[in-house]
Amino acid sequence: MERTGRTLLYFKRYLTTKSQPFTTKCQTLNIATLGSTNFSTEISTNHNHCWKCGIVKNSLDMFCEKCHSIQAPMQKNNYFKVLGVEEGFNVDTKLLKDKFRKVQSLIHPDKFSNRTHEEQTISEEYSSLINKAYSSLMSPMKRAEHLLLLQGGETIGESQTVDEPDFLMQIMRLNEEVEDAEQDIDKLKQLDEQNKNELEKLAKEIDKYFKNRDIDAAKKSIIKLKYFTSISNRINSIFREAGVTN
Ligand SMILES: [Zn+2]
Repeated sequence: MERTGRTLLYFKRYLTTKSQPFTTKCQTLNIATLGSTNFSTEISTNHNHCWKCGIVKNSLDMFCEKCHSIQAPMQKNNYFKVLGVEEGFNVDTKLLKDKFRKVQSLIHPDKFSNRTHEEQTISEEYSSLINKAYSSLMSPMKRAEHLLLLQGGETIGESQTVDEPDFLMQIMRLNEEVEDAEQDIDKLKQLDEQNKNELEKLAKEIDKYFKNRDIDAAKKSIIKLKYFTSISNRINSIFREAGVTN
């Protein structure tokens, strides 16, 4: 009775507190806010023309083929296109890193310090977009949310959960075990392994669902991924505080 009461209390606290950062992440992925800068419309109202020399562009290149001036990013809402990697949940993180470094080296604001104000502004906008795209795609959770938005037009709302009592019970137990094992590093390592297995299983599921365009199933698995990611963050923070490298 004692334990059940504590579990429910914990779970309630878990739902209300742990879901907060998640919602914030979702909000940053909203399409409306992704394109929040109105810079492009200030420079040029027509993306098909170079803002500087006015030629009709034949490609989505970062630089105008005629005057070689930097062009405002065209694919702001799709982080995969921003970085030039194939859209999907399974990404090659090494390739992602390579692409990021390559694009960042071309458009870094330092390279434009002696250029016009317009070019400086575009390079800053591009650079911050590249950083945001890269950090989002490197995180499985953020990558999954981004795909959900791109392919299903959906975000995961505050306190959104899955209607699966067994799953919720599993999460409650795992949270409770982590709480009980705060001083027991070996036990925590074991729980960490267990949690990582769940994350891997879900990653495979999410990849499969996106490939099959089964958005509802993908969404459900992403919500589950959220819970295990949260547990993983909690374990990692205990490890950090204890000075343990895992
Ligand atoms: Zn041009």
